Amino acid sequence: MTTSIPLPLTQFVVKMHSRCDLACDHCYVYEHADSSWRSRPKVIADGILAKAAERIGEHAAAHRLPAVRVVLHGGEPLLAGPDRLRRAAEALRAALPPGCALDLRIHTNGVLLNRDFCALFAEQEIKVGISLDGDKAANDRHRRFADGRSSHPQVLRAVALLNEPGYRHLFAGLLCTMDVRNDPVAVYRALAELRPPAVDFLLPHATWDEPPGRPAELGATPYADWLLTVHGLWDADGRPFAVRTFESVHRTLRGFSSLTESLGLEPSDLAVLETDGTFEQADSLKTAYDGAPATGMNVFAHSLDDLARHPGIAARQSGLAGLSEACRACSVVRSCGGGLYAHRYRSDDGGGSFDHPSVYCGDLMTFIKGIAGSGSSGDGVPAQPAGVPGAPGVRGVRGVPGGPSPEAEPLLPGALAPSQLDELARGYGSAETVAALGRSQLALTRAMLAAAWDASGQGRAEAWTLLAELDTAAPAAVDAVLGHPYARAWAARRLAGDLQAGLGPLAALAAAAAVRAGRGDAVAVPVRGGWLHLPTLGRIAVPDGEAVVTGRAGGLAVRASDGTVRTDLDEPLRRVRLAGGWTVALEDADPLRDCHDHPVADHLSESELLDWTGALREAWELLGRDLPGYAEGIRAGLTTVTPLRPGPTGRDVSSAARQAYGAVGIARPATAPTLALLLAHEFQHVKLGAVLDLTDLYDRADPTLYFAPWRPDPRPLEGLLQGTYAHLAVTEYWGTRTLAYDGLPGTAADRAREQFALWRRYTAEAVERLATSGALTGTGLRFADGMRATVAPWLDLSLPAAAEQAADRVRRERAGV
Ligand code: SF4
Repeated sequence: MTTSIPLPLTQFVVKMHSRCDLACDHCYVYEHADSSWRSRPKVIADGILAKAAERIGEHAAAHRLPAVRVVLHGGEPLLAGPDRLRRAAEALRAALPPGCALDLRIHTNGVLLNRDFCALFAEQEIKVGISLDGDKAANDRHRRFADGRSSHPQVLRAVALLNEPGYRHLFAGLLCTMDVRNDPVAVYRALAELRPPAVDFLLPHATWDEPPGRPAELGATPYADWLLTVHGLWDADGRPFAVRTFESVHRTLRGFSSLTESLGLEPSDLAVLETDGTFEQADSLKTAYDGAPATGMNVFAHSLDDLARHPGIAARQSGLAGLSEACRACSVVRSCGGGLYAHRYRSDDGGGSFDHPSVYCGDLMTFIKGIAGSGSSGDGVPAQPAGVPGAPGVRGVRGVPGGPSPEAEPLLPGALAPSQLDELARGYGSAETVAALGRSQLALTRAMLAAAWDASGQGRAEAWTLLAELDTAAPAAVDAVLGHPYARAWAARRLAGDLQAGLGPLAALAAAAAVRAGRGDAVAVPVRGGWLHLPTLGRIAVPDGEAVVTGRAGGLAVRASDGTVRTDLDEPLRRVRLAGGWTVALEDADPLRDCHDHPVADHLSESELLDWTGALREAWELLGRDLPGYAEGIRAGLTTVTPLRPGPTGRDVSSAARQAYGAVGIARPATAPTLALLLAHEFQHVKLGAVLDLTDLYDRADPTLYFAPWRPDPRPLEGLLQGTYAHLAVTEYWGTRTLAYDGLPGTAADRAREQFALWRRYTAEAVERLATSGALTGTGLRFADGMRATVAPWLDLSLPAAAEQAADRVRRERAGV
């Protein structure tokens, strides 16, 4: 398959040094089938590092990646020395294109870690993960020096260093390789005592040829039993740190993506660079057979796109379709995913292949069912927000196999700086911050489209191939169509199993990109209902069947199923130009736009279009005047207004759709000020939805329903959070209107003061309800602090008693007292 669009690599393991100062007998590099390390240079040369950085930079630019993760690895990477590590960090950072964040980590055994290294890591923003198998007895079982000495004291010293206040922010987590002979309680307690931000529990590498040890006295599924014991302790302790293995099962049981390559169905997006400049697949394959990770490619002769097309990597990217028959039929396959690819290998199947369940199959099944049945998975509760069916993970969000877990959040590391998240928490968001949200959403759309296409059995291959080619040749054209809000909406429907959303929209996206690129590419697009719709361009009336769309300089040609040729759009997408020179699309034709909570309006008549144009222009001016702190972000992120049908009895109707970033649906209200308010309100939902795609603000397993002060019905926590965030803007709108009237008499002024009195109290109460819910994550609590900081000053503004009384009246009526 052509891969330049769908399958960029976003995680890179760079081998800094190929030898190790420990001699752990469970190490997959030196103690398993692959012996390639013997012939490699000990340390990576600067020229290779520079070329690797250049390759990663060009790959990030070509795929517009919002972030990449690089793990400096080994052997033992600290043996490469501080100077080389600094040069590596500097080269990588310098090579990345603007807008692509670097999540740089080092994975070490900790033996050599000292203050000099920590100072370097602080300077270069390198997070540190450390291997530690538990208490001293557990760690000493395998992790020893060549002469048999324990490494435990050195590792504890390294962890203590990382727990110092000056370095704590560098501490990424611990990596614990399980041994079922170790006491799981002692292991858990020893690790928890070290206050790690994250712990990874890894199954020891094994294959059907070299099965894992299973002491008879420990039963049939000792690995599951061991993990379930640790899971129980971790859960009872209030989950004091992130554990990717556990969180991945919790997430996948509720339809979210896995956080680790060893579980779930997300495609692999990882490449390894060895010290001699060769590219390899994941290190875990070293366990299978000698040479298993080899690709025959190297950093000088091959790009990362070449590597992404390597069949071995493609094989780990094909989701359900790439699993053995037994796995495909398995009841827990969405959580298990057949386990780690390397663990499926067996050589006695007539040639050797990975087309088998994991050698840990029984353990994985017991472990997943154990969590599902424990009641702690959130299974059975509406954890996934409404309208977010089975969205896959963003490529590049997962941790590195063989490396320690990153903290569970953010999900797309580096896509938003902490200061940008704080800015959004205050309710605002500069143009730059909202653009960062847009880039992460584009990455998510690409991933979802790829997953939807993969799951389709790879139909419409010509369209997909063309889209992939254009992604290299005319990336702006592809970005423009993939940035169309309803591209993702289609992918979400497909991924939710809605096969009525056929593959036609994929062909239409490719055709629209081809027209925008003007290169003469042709693509066949199915036509239904007498209209050929080209996203971001408009539609043409042609007979049902299949139309062939050809892009050409300055236009298009459409050959309809009856042989007629058309060169003009009958109804181009209408765009409204707003003050300041930006435009917003009035989307009234895309058949996929009906994904808002309310039915969409029909195609606008000319007079309706005129009404909308005038109202939008006036509303935008009002937003600039009354909500300047919000207007900048709206301009940076709002691409589309989708007209909705009017509500019953003239009620104002508006709705953002979680799967359509950049669009808001609105039934045109009677006045421009109301339209301004609805635009601001809905765009808050758009921003928050994008934030929630990046980071967990709350426990999605929380089954509690919460009352928002302004609603009679309780809702899941996300409903309260979304409403509160939207009403920050509403509060500010009425606050600025109140200040503008400055004590003046009149109906409009009284209404502004009453609305302000009402919404500032509602919003402040809702913030406190969120903050005391017990369901917010650490990031969520910080987010609530930001919202509180915005609403609090409004509470100090004194209002006439009549306004407060009117607000009280409304509150009592709504509360039914
Ligand atoms: S539990 Fe076994 S059969 Fe089921 S998906 Fe995992 S490895 Fe495959």
